[in-house]
Amino acid sequence: MKVRLPTVLPGLAVAVFLLSAGRNPCPGRAGGAAGYFVPPVVTIYLSFDDGPCKGSEEVDRLATVDSVPVNVFVIGKYVFSSDSMNLLFRRYERNPMIEIGNHSFTHANKKYRKYYEDAGEVLADFNVNRDSLHLVNGIARLPGRNFWRIGKRRQEDIVNGKEAADSLAAQGYRVFGWDLEWRSDSLGLSVHSGREMLELVDKTVREERTFRAANIVILLHDPQLQNAEFLAELRDFIRRVREKSNYRFGHLSAYPDLEFPVGLAAKPLILTSR
Ligand SMILES: [Zn+2]
Repeated sequence: MKVRLPTVLPGLAVAVFLLSAGRNPCPGRAGGAAGYFVPPVVTIYLSFDDGPCKGSEEVDRLATVDSVPVNVFVIGKYVFSSDSMNLLFRRYERNPMIEIGNHSFTHANKKYRKYYEDAGEVLADFNVNRDSLHLVNGIARLPGRNFWRIGKRRQEDIVNGKEAADSLAAQGYRVFGWDLEWRSDSLGLSVHSGREMLELVDKTVREERTFRAANIVILLHDPQLQNAEFLAELRDFIRRVREKSNYRFGHLSAYPDLEFPVGLAAKPLILTSR
């Protein structure tokens, strides 16, 4: 429907336009008579790779005790390596604060370049992991590669693996990389304090260096939480984030532009067994 502005009262029309513009429908932009600034709400995703392993128990406990959403990317080979690892995986499954993603069955046996030379083998490896662990949400992360395939958007490292990422995406996997890694040093100590990490998050978001604006995926690894000091810094980071009104934590299933709600698709391709 077309809306005609009254031609006899141009001054009034301009005034109406200015008033409605002042409502500031765009978050993060200056608006209102006083020129206030509404910062965008940024979602932080904490993602832990390479479980189950030592440290997974702490990841599980952190998610519960701190009531923080966590994504884990698991390796089937580790799940079936022992009863204790299997139990850790079951804990992940039972924890509503934890969402489980696919990190391949073999983790490329740590021979990444060769692994990615055969896209068909990579897809088969992810399918074995999906089927043996009953991973139904399609959320995946490539071992040793920071590649993204979300909706129509894509991003990748300069290393090989593009074909593998494409074939996973074509089969319905949502391939997540990461925007920022929280590293530890050779002693397992946190390279950054919780305060420094929040500063880095602020800077990365402000400079729009994330795959998707106002969303930041942080990479961690389960073994890091074996170190009590690292864990304390992570807890401090979570506390500081919660003190800021423009941040929240989320699960990757709520990441923008997933083609259909994770786990709710009528017929996701990845649920079709070959
Ligand atoms: Zn990994």
